[in-house]
Amino acid sequence: MKIAIIGAGIAGLAAAVRTASAGHEVDVFEANSYPGGKLSEFVQDGYRFDAGPSLFTMPQYVEDLFRAAGEDMEPHFQYQKLPVLCHYFWEDGTRLQASGKAEQLAQDMEHIWGVKAEKVLAYLADSRQKYRLSGRIFLEKSLHKAGTWLNTGVIRSMLMIPRFDLFTTMNAVNERYMDGNEKAVQLFNRYATYNGSNPYRTPGLLTIIPHFEYGIGAFYPEGGMHRITQAVYQLGQRKGARYSFNAPVEEIRVQNGHANGIRVGGEWRDYDLVISNMDAWFTYRKLLPGQPAPERSLHQEKSTSALIFYWGIRRSFPELDLHNIFFSNDYRREFEHLAVGKISEDPTVYINITSKYTPADAPEGCENWFTMVNVPYNSGQDWDALIAETRRNVLAKLSRILGTEVEPLIACESLLDPRSIESKTSSHLGALYGTSSNTRMAAFMRHPNFSHRIQHLYFCGGSVHPGGGIPLALLSGKIVAEMIASDY
Ligand SMILES: Cc1cc2nc3c(=O)[nH]c(=O)nc-3n(C[C@H](O)[C@H](O)[C@H](O)COP(=O)(O)OP(=O)(O)OC[C@H]3O[C@@H](n4cnc5c(N)ncnc54)[C@H](O)[C@@H]3O)c2cc1C
Repeated sequence: MKIAIIGAGIAGLAAAVRTASAGHEVDVFEANSYPGGKLSEFVQDGYRFDAGPSLFTMPQYVEDLFRAAGEDMEPHFQYQKLPVLCHYFWEDGTRLQASGKAEQLAQDMEHIWGVKAEKVLAYLADSRQKYRLSGRIFLEKSLHKAGTWLNTGVIRSMLMIPRFDLFTTMNAVNERYMDGNEKAVQLFNRYATYNGSNPYRTPGLLTIIPHFEYGIGAFYPEGGMHRITQAVYQLGQRKGARYSFNAPVEEIRVQNGHANGIRVGGEWRDYDLVISNMDAWFTYRKLLPGQPAPERSLHQEKSTSALIFYWGIRRSFPELDLHNIFFSNDYRREFEHLAVGKISEDPTVYINITSKYTPADAPEGCENWFTMVNVPYNSGQDWDALIAETRRNVLAKLSRILGTEVEPLIACESLLDPRSIESKTSSHLGALYGTSSNTRMAAFMRHPNFSHRIQHLYFCGGSVHPGGGIPLALLSGKIVAEMIASDY
């Protein structure tokens, strides 16, 4: 089969590896001059920055790609498990270095806050159990194919639904386990932001996310996050996939209900199958003019977006690690702001510093700070004003907690906001993770990995099932490749 893949984001790259490895003739068309989409990098004044994702979880899905391609991963891609997951800071001086070992974390939480260690361990065991029972249904298979629901393992999992905490919120589950300890609850509520959701609304089932870090682990790819893109891109090249950059696809041709070609650079090219890694919203709105779109699915609430200040810092901070969080005083209020399109004056600040693990990412004695706050998706806010105000608030907060003025330490600066996230990767409204998971039905309402109306048209990437984040984007590429293998 001749397959066209629209977009070389990590999901498109994964789909290319799998379909090329299955023997198909694969062409990938990318609008940008580089692969990776959000998972890209840039260098400024001697500082290297990963532009988007900074946390690497579920490395098994990268390993799985190499396995599917019949190659050994080790010579091409290495990563290490983090002994400490995150350094947490609060305004009242509380600090916690969250160990990657659950037992150690539990003991530290008991020591600092008096939360019983066995409660923390029971919570993480529950997280693991939910993942084991629901992971295969919600993440690894299409939710929109009858075959998924007829599988005996899935039927067994369905019987366990009452244990999934689907009818309560993540915050309620965290309060239940953490005896209402505010900081412990906040620490675990933060996991809702891993897919751009709100812990006070997202179902309790999302308490599976801590298991990804404390059960499976958090990892650092040698050389930084962008190495994931490079490794998967080069693997696809070795498997024979062909890549065109600066090649935005203009239209998908549909004849007699079948996708059978794409227009690039004004020219039509014939294909048997088309896979779109472009955001589903823009695939319909820009590439499929005149075709009916699945409006209900496209109008699902978007995930949050992000504001990132990439700062070269001319000093090093021994108290900081690869991942650092400076929590807001009132987490609920922060999410209330996000829900109405605003940014709280006291936002939680995340700093990622890859030079802690890859010293060459910053000049000697300096650090590369990827400083991020969660912000609402773009609904026409006055972003320039919001950014200026948030920058002031972030700098003041960091300076207070670190006990030193941060602004004079900034050697260089770049910015990413919801507008540039949309323009750089065609992500509707700048949402980081496609649609939010703020309702029980979110997983089912997300666009499927195929079109119900147009034959031979498939979808992968963060805006479709199973959702955003590198692991799920990789899984979407797998689901699409498996569907193609079974459909043809
Ligand atoms: C700031 C930020 C922080 C994040 N943090 C994390 C994290 O720590 N961990 C994590 O797991 N995930 C994180 N994510 C989410 C993660 O980056 C995404 O879910 C994932 O990279 C999405 O991959 P994708 O392939 O779906 O899409 P994208 O990366 O958006 O790629 C889509 C590609 O399609 C191309 N394209 C679009 N339209 C066309 C067209 N018409 N023709 C040709 N090409 C086209 C785009 O140029 C782009 O390259 C973060 C995202 C951002 C932005």
